[in-house]
Amino acid sequence: MQKKDCVSIKFCRLCNSKYLIKVFDLGHTPLANSYSKIKISKKLRKYPLKLNYCNNCGHLQLSHSIKPSKMFSNYLYKSNTSQKNFLHFKNYANEIKKKIKNNNAKILDIASNDGTFLNFFEKKKFFRLGIDPAKNLKKLSSKKGITQIDDFFTKKISENIKKNYGKFDIITANHVCAHVEDLNDFFCGVQNLLKNDGLFIFEISYRASVLKKNTFDTIYHEHLDYHALYPITKFVKKFNLNVINFKTPDAQGGSLRVYTSKNKNSKNYIRLKKQILKEKKQLDLFKANTYKRFEKKIINCKHKLNFLIQNCVKNNMKIAGYGAAAKTTTFLNYFKIPEKNIKFIFDDNKLKQGLCIPGTKIKIVNPSNLNKAKIDILIIFAWNYAETIINKNKKFKKKGGKFLIPFPNPRLI
Ligand SMILES: [Zn+2]
Repeated sequence: MQKKDCVSIKFCRLCNSKYLIKVFDLGHTPLANSYSKIKISKKLRKYPLKLNYCNNCGHLQLSHSIKPSKMFSNYLYKSNTSQKNFLHFKNYANEIKKKIKNNNAKILDIASNDGTFLNFFEKKKFFRLGIDPAKNLKKLSSKKGITQIDDFFTKKISENIKKNYGKFDIITANHVCAHVEDLNDFFCGVQNLLKNDGLFIFEISYRASVLKKNTFDTIYHEHLDYHALYPITKFVKKFNLNVINFKTPDAQGGSLRVYTSKNKNSKNYIRLKKQILKEKKQLDLFKANTYKRFEKKIINCKHKLNFLIQNCVKNNMKIAGYGAAAKTTTFLNYFKIPEKNIKFIFDDNKLKQGLCIPGTKIKIVNPSNLNKAKIDILIIFAWNYAETIINKNKKFKKKGGKFLIPFPNPRLI
C-alpha cells in the first residue's frame, strides 16, 4: 500500500511502459471529496492534477496518485442519491439477472457503497457479498441485509474471501477500477475469485464520452484512469480474462461496461472489433495530440464562462450554483471563478450541507432555501442532471431566475 500521500506515476498503469507524455495540466487542486467546514476548506492541501498519455498501449491516466485512505475512508457520496443512478443500477442488475441460470448464484460487488446495487438481487435467490472501504456505508448495507467487508479489494483480501465464501458466479465492480491503486493486484484478486464459467462485469467512465461531452470536470484524483476499450482488452488478457461484450450506458456522464470471462467464446466478436476500430480511426483516441487539443478546447470554455459570469456580476445579478458533486471541485478550482461571485451551492445530499466546496469558502446549502435566497442565476454544476434540476425548480424560473449551463458552450436559459 502506498506510504506517501502523493506519488508521481512513472510507469503506465496498464502496460508498465515508461513512455508517458503529459497532455493536459489542470494545475493543483484539493481532493475533490474533501468537503470541510469553512475554516479548513481554504487550507486543504492541493495536489498536482495532470493527465499522461501512454505512447505504448494508448492508456490515459493521471500523473500522480494519492494515498487511497486519504480519499475513501469516509465517503459522502451514496449511490442511491439520485433517481437517475438508482434506475441505472436497477436496469443493469436486471440485465445480469437474465444471464444467470443457476439457483443460489453468488455475487460479489466490489466497492458496494451503500448496497444499492446488490439490493436489486433478491436475498432469497442470491448470495450477496459487498466490499467497500467506507466504514460509514457498511451500516447502510447491513440494514439491507447485505454482508459487507469494510476494506479495499486486493489479492490478499480475495484469499480470505475465497476461504470464507468460495468462488463467485458474478463479480461486479462499478466505477471503481479508476480508483484502484494497484490494478494488477486488483485483477489478480478477481481472477482468484471468479468461477471458470463466471462473469466479471465492470463499469468505468468512457474516455470517448469525456472527449465528446467536454467533461474535463470528471478528472480528479480519485479517477486515476480514463479508459477505452482497446487498451483494456489487451490488459485483461494478462489475467486469463477475455472481453466478451461491451455496452456504453449514459450513466456518470458516459460509461463503458465491459463483460469479461475466462471463456474465450464471444458472440460479439465483430461488434467488439468494430468499436476498437472506431476508437482508433474515427475518435482518434490513440494519439497524444487529441488530448492537447482537448485541453485547448476546455481553456476556451473557461474564458467564455468567466466572461459570461463577469457580465452578470456587472449587472448586479446574484449567482449561486446547483450540484456539489466531486466534479464541482475540479470545475471551480480549474476555472478559477472568483468565489465572491458565487453565493452558495445547493445540493440535495444532506451529508454535504453546511460544508464547503473543497478549496473554496463556498457553502453547500439545502435546495429548499432556493426561492428565499433571491438568486438571479443558477449555475448547474451537475450538468448531467440539468433536465431534472430545471424541472424541479420551475418556480425559480417563473420568478425570473435563469439557469446557466456551463457545457459544452456556456449558455443561459
Ligand atoms: Zn500503457
